[in-house]
Amino acid sequence: MFLFIFLFVYLPQIYLSVCPVKFQFSGSACLQGTNASALEKEIGHEQFPVNEHYFGLVNFGNTCYCNSVLQALYFCRPFRDKVLAYKVQPRRKESLLTCLADLFNSIATQKKKVGVIPPKKFISRLRKENELFDNYMQQDAHEFLNYLLNTIADLLQEEKNHERQQNGKLLQNGGGGGDGGEGGGGGGGKEIQQTWVHEIFQGTLTNETRCLNCEAVSSKDEDFLDLSVDVEQNTSITHCLRGFSNTETLCSECKYYCEQCRSKQEAQKRMRVKKLPMILALHLKRFKYMDQLHRYTKLSYRVVFPLELRLFNTSGDATNPERMYDLVAVVVHCGSGPNRGHYITIVKSHGFWLLFDDDIVEKIDAQAIEEFYGLTSDISKNSESGYILFYQSRD
Ligand SMILES: [Zn+2]
Repeated sequence: MFLFIFLFVYLPQIYLSVCPVKFQFSGSACLQGTNASALEKEIGHEQFPVNEHYFGLVNFGNTCYCNSVLQALYFCRPFRDKVLAYKVQPRRKESLLTCLADLFNSIATQKKKVGVIPPKKFISRLRKENELFDNYMQQDAHEFLNYLLNTIADLLQEEKNHERQQNGKLLQNGGGGGDGGEGGGGGGGKEIQQTWVHEIFQGTLTNETRCLNCEAVSSKDEDFLDLSVDVEQNTSITHCLRGFSNTETLCSECKYYCEQCRSKQEAQKRMRVKKLPMILALHLKRFKYMDQLHRYTKLSYRVVFPLELRLFNTSGDATNPERMYDLVAVVVHCGSGPNRGHYITIVKSHGFWLLFDDDIVEKIDAQAIEEFYGLTSDISKNSESGYILFYQSRD
């Protein structure tokens, strides 16, 4: 008797990324395995951080927009810790968050320090949940980041509301059973609850408007999970943030209705940061709609992003205006337009910098980061330039 065991290893159709500019830092195309062990060697056994893993992610057909954001988020430590903590909680039905938790957990619990992982379950869940991502086209990494954070926040809010309702029922039926728990009113009504996504990424902007007739200032607050700023040629993040908070005069048709004057008046408006987030996600608006061309084009402008950042466009009543930030991750767009090109990520981990290009991970010098500022020439739109910056506060 012969027993033939046919082991069919179903390899998912891995579409080679059709991204025209596949970034290659070292210039040499490496095989996955050799590349991985080369990375391990380069970092060195002694220097390799304990309990840290550097894993590339397989590209499932233009999914670099997703891979790049996932890597950046993995190296936002407060976020990673919360996702991993979610993983050990009692099992829930599959969601984008459980898939993310499984993925992060599988990276964090690998025996090997370096290697490649296919984020297959996460991608198929993403495609199932949102038709925007249910194809093999290049997507906007910022749009994906937004979608992911909001989806996770919604899921967590739902769970909290559900828990509250359950607790409320327990209190009603059992007469204040044991745990005491959450405290406060037992109302099961839907409320907007702060989740750890908000704790990590949410900041508050205040929109101040000063009436130029009576000088009265009115302000309106607005929460954000990331900030989108305009870019200009040969500038810096500080300049972009200044532009974001520039005073704007409301006049002629745009006059402002002043409650004090009870009439439309000229006014000055400015946007400032009132609550600084733990992790500041800064999105550079590099894709601009050109009316003449009827399509989006890329602004490859050189915008310097510092390794350390302090915000100065804060409001007078800001709770933590002195917050000092360190750059921890950058999602870089390579190429000439939003629907073509490629995304990679650079991250800081334990004092050194790494570049994640789908399944390839390389160690880079801190000086090499300058190469991702953008181009001083306006002619070429084809650049490898910082697109989403993640700054983590020191406190
Ligand atoms: Zn007024």
